[in-house]
Amino acid sequence: MSVRVRFAPSPTGFLHIGGLRTALYNYLFAKKHGGTCVLRIEDTDRTRFVEGAQEGLIEEFKQAGIMFDEGPVQGGALGPYVQSDRFDLYKEHAKKLVDPNLEGNGFAYYAFDTEEDIESMRERQRNAGIAPRYMRGEMNNELTYGSEKTREAIESGVPYVIRLKVPHNRDVRFVDLVHGAIIIAGREIDDQVLIKSDGFPTYHLANVVDDHFMQISHVIRGEEWLPSTPKHVLLYEAFGWEIPQFAHLPLLKNPDGSKMSKRFGDVLVHQFRERGFMPEALINYCAFLGWNPGTEQEFFTMEELVEAFSLERVHKAGAIFDYKRLAWMNAHYLRLEPKERLGEEFASMLEANGVTYASKEYIENVAQLMKERVQTVNELVPFSTYMFKDPIHFEKDYLEQHWNEETETIVTSFLDVLSSIEPFTNEQIETSVKEFLTNNSIPMKKFVHPLRVAITGKKIGADLYSTIQLLGKNAVVRRLKSILELRNQMTEFVTEGIDPKTGETIEVTMVELPITPLEIHN
Ligand code: GLU
Repeated sequence: MSVRVRFAPSPTGFLHIGGLRTALYNYLFAKKHGGTCVLRIEDTDRTRFVEGAQEGLIEEFKQAGIMFDEGPVQGGALGPYVQSDRFDLYKEHAKKLVDPNLEGNGFAYYAFDTEEDIESMRERQRNAGIAPRYMRGEMNNELTYGSEKTREAIESGVPYVIRLKVPHNRDVRFVDLVHGAIIIAGREIDDQVLIKSDGFPTYHLANVVDDHFMQISHVIRGEEWLPSTPKHVLLYEAFGWEIPQFAHLPLLKNPDGSKMSKRFGDVLVHQFRERGFMPEALINYCAFLGWNPGTEQEFFTMEELVEAFSLERVHKAGAIFDYKRLAWMNAHYLRLEPKERLGEEFASMLEANGVTYASKEYIENVAQLMKERVQTVNELVPFSTYMFKDPIHFEKDYLEQHWNEETETIVTSFLDVLSSIEPFTNEQIETSVKEFLTNNSIPMKKFVHPLRVAITGKKIGADLYSTIQLLGKNAVVRRLKSILELRNQMTEFVTEGIDPKTGETIEVTMVELPITPLEIHN
């Protein structure tokens, strides 16, 4: 039997990272087995429908490199692939399950309860401390009415639902490829509504009917659907259809072990994208959310994932969503990004931050220099402000620690060396600095820290010699001279900073140079 899988999102908003994981596993499984991956839009719940959500999902998959073989865009022989275009099919099938004699002997039955009836049943159950399941023997339905009253009710237009008649005297069994054999007693299962009073199908009915007619061989979905599966199995049995294989993927969890939620950070794919996470990194990270290759390999291309993936290696324990690890993976892909593409992304971010004057080549070079020190492209902007404008703010303690009378004498004589460096390349700058230090018996650390802080305004950054080369002689000389000449005229102010050891917000005293900072038009 050929492998056919589907990803079946409801268009209720943006794609959740868990949805990306489920879609990815379906895609990998299909490709691995030369099968077909279907996209089906489950929009039966019109109250939760969000305009544009379907288009958004499709775009996100495109960016991620997940290609569906059949779906609303591609079409296919077993469509339509949007449930709202298939409503008649569901109703027709629900009716097939109801006993035509209306004597309650079918796999499903009509029920006429009003909202108040259901609410008062719930109330009685709450008071008695019993599980909230439809008590079919006590309610208004085909089973309690009998055929005549049922027919009358239908004919006189009393609103009805169609409910699944779950057998109470036996177990429902199925095998899940991740969770193993599952056995649930029938009396534990609710008489699920299949057709609502507005004539719309519920998820359960539409899902099973579609999986059958779309010839789905494997249902691969999140563990949150595992409790629904016994109802689905009963539906397949009632229709006399072959039951697909099931694989329920582990829940995604917050670092504290609770169900993944936005309390701990972003959960939507587009949010990660906006924060500069690359599609390759998101895919690689999602692959590990419930699966591992059983080897040390940490980074995969899509083709390698297809090769390595198997449902046998999917585990059932919940998968903790580790934001730090995702960022670490992103850093890896960021470094591999082609120079020009990274430059373009960086340029558009700079532009959004008002930096419109630097050349394409300079932006590309800055990105190449800085990319080793950041994890996402977004971090490049705050990390490299001094590459585009002279710094005027310095941490007071740090500057005082590194600048004193002696530093000033050293830096003053270095300015002569600096102006004579030719060619102005990072290698030549490094050689000249080292020669200068050796000739004057100055230890390295007495020089590089003051140099870095004066040129960049920061304690850490990329390679200093390359930074100097990129900025150019004029900018570096100008920055060193500003500190030499104006250090005693700096004004103090207090701002918020982050304690690098504790990560806590602390007060930091800064000093400001009384200059108008120049832009770097390299
Ligand atoms: N429409 C369901 C969802 O939004 C599909 C669940 C399934 O794959 O059966 O996740």
